[in-house]
Amino acid sequence: MKISDILTGSTKAYPSLEIVPPLRGITKKELIESIAPFMEFSPKYINVTSHRDEFEFREEADGSFSRHLVRNRISETTVCAAIMSRYDVETVPHIICAGTTAEEIESKLDNLEFLGINNIVALRGDSMTGEKRFSPTPGGYRYASELVEGIRRYQGSAGYQRNRKEGDSDRYFCIGVGGYPEKHFEAANIETDIENLKKKIDAGADYIITQMFFDNNVYYDFVRRCREAGITVPIIPGLKPLSTARQINMIPESFSLDIPVELTSEIAKAGTDKEAVYRIGTEWCIEQCRDLIAHGVPAVHFYTMGKSQNIVNILKECF
Ligand code: FAD
Repeated sequence: MKISDILTGSTKAYPSLEIVPPLRGITKKELIESIAPFMEFSPKYINVTSHRDEFEFREEADGSFSRHLVRNRISETTVCAAIMSRYDVETVPHIICAGTTAEEIESKLDNLEFLGINNIVALRGDSMTGEKRFSPTPGGYRYASELVEGIRRYQGSAGYQRNRKEGDSDRYFCIGVGGYPEKHFEAANIETDIENLKKKIDAGADYIITQMFFDNNVYYDFVRRCREAGITVPIIPGLKPLSTARQINMIPESFSLDIPVELTSEIAKAGTDKEAVYRIGTEWCIEQCRDLIAHGVPAVHFYTMGKSQNIVNILKECF
């Protein structure tokens, strides 16, 4: 079922979960066990992130350097297939422009259609480690809006076209895109960032999932600005509970966002008490989630990032 249909058919807010593919060496059984705690909440779908390949240089015996491809994680498509082989749940693989050509993306879409997956989140991805700015792969896409256009152009292999319903040819995939309530770190200001977000919707995206935020007013203001800019699609808020004191510095640095002073001072008061920090982060997220639901959001998206206990506690309290 397409996420757009789930969104229109839902009468109350539901949780969605985003997981990161496991590192190579983890077995399918371990992956299935790691998501088992979420399944008792019958999530309507599970997002699986995508990670660009990295290169590393190794010094050879003669002193020269050779370039080697490093693939650390199992691919999102494989993880989706593994989840669907065990659970009756929709999976939503993320597709990124970074490090990929348009042709390779077409081949990935064929693989997804083969598996019966018709939901995607389309993203640009980030620069490679050590690279200052994002640069597109030759023959690849520069912006997520171009990727959305590319997905809409995709017609599928001949066999798939035969199976599609009439009028479904360029709408086979339901496409989600990312939005940034505190603006994307490269954008000059929130206004241009929202103009660029609108390009993704105009290119054919069906809904938006936001970057995480810790102050709901930032989300409400973002939704208001999007609506004023003519963006009418659903905007799903993304949440992540803080779980360690270190994240107070790491999260703003990695995701270019603010953490409210009320939360940082609570965490500071907890000092070295790790359990207290964990509890404060979880309780803050529960409050955020309850308030969002009270404001009528269609769904709440959780960035699990390999952690399950705090998310399970939040799901128990809020859904
Ligand atoms: P874009 O929409 O292409 O925007 C990137 C920048 O370019 C922005 O500053 C925008 O304002 C600007 N821009 C866009 N279009 C134009 C234009 N036409 N002209 C000029 N400027 C323009 N990363 C991963 O690697 N894997 C994942 O699985 C993943 N999942 C994510 C899920 C969500 C919900 C979110 C919010 C982010 C996710 N990311 C993921 C991170 C994302 O890849 C990065 O934030 C990346 O830097 C931007 O991606 P984007 O799709 O938002 O890019």
